[in-house]
Amino acid sequence: MGLPPLKIKQLLDENLHHECEGVGPEHVCVSIAAIANLPSRFGDFQIVAFYNNKDNKEHVAIVHGDVTEAEDVPVRVHSECLTGDVIGSLRCDCRDQLESALRMIGQMERGILLYMRQEGRGIGLINKIRAYALQEQGFDTVDANLALGFRDDEREYSVAAHMLMSLHVKSVRLITNNPKKIEDLTQHGIKVIGRIPHIMPPNEHNQFYLETKAQRSGHLIDFYGRERLPEQADPPIVEGMDEEVLAVIRKYYR
Ligand SMILES: [Zn+2]
Ligand SMILES: [Zn+2]
Repeated sequence: MGLPPLKIKQLLDENLHHECEGVGPEHVCVSIAAIANLPSRFGDFQIVAFYNNKDNKEHVAIVHGDVTEAEDVPVRVHSECLTGDVIGSLRCDCRDQLESALRMIGQMERGILLYMRQEGRGIGLINKIRAYALQEQGFDTVDANLALGFRDDEREYSVAAHMLMSLHVKSVRLITNNPKKIEDLTQHGIKVIGRIPHIMPPNEHNQFYLETKAQRSGHLIDFYGRERLPEQADPPIVEGMDEEVLAVIRKYYR
């Protein structure tokens, strides 16, 4: 069961004329514009669409279960990547990260994936493709690496934080390998109880693209034991996870 109809009505009503002093130095304010069911190949979800006063992007929350007034809600913040998410590009691991997070959340009692429309870490699609092209010419790898980085854009945490507040989430458990994300969300007023490491289980497919990435961008990746990306090296289970989360993780990485 997802958000019950009464809760949906309540959320829509209170967001109709929502105004607040905003989150962060830029006084970011968001409001829920629409909610609908979204059955998917990764599980049953509801999609919550938001307006915000910061950019003209339509950020969404993909919600599983009733997350309102809930504690310890697993949350993944995903940054849009057209080439990875939609086209299945092997130049990055965005699609694997997205699918893995949705599959994991879909199996839990409740959880949220915030899909942030910040292509190429906020630099936009054109600049990301420019960085790809530069990389192919064999120079400016610093810029190329920045544009191709694994990490989500930290500049958008104010929007993400307010989205979680709009959903009346009481506390979250962040699905991430990046402790800085936890800090940033906490600074913006979100109670982060802990984290769930986000690991891409190595397989034929991601081995290929990680090797491609190693060749193309000079990242130090060795799939056979030595230097690895944090995404691959992180233990899937960390201290403080509750039994419900552990059960899903164990099943997932079996
Ligand atoms: Zn607001
Ligand atoms: Zn990507």
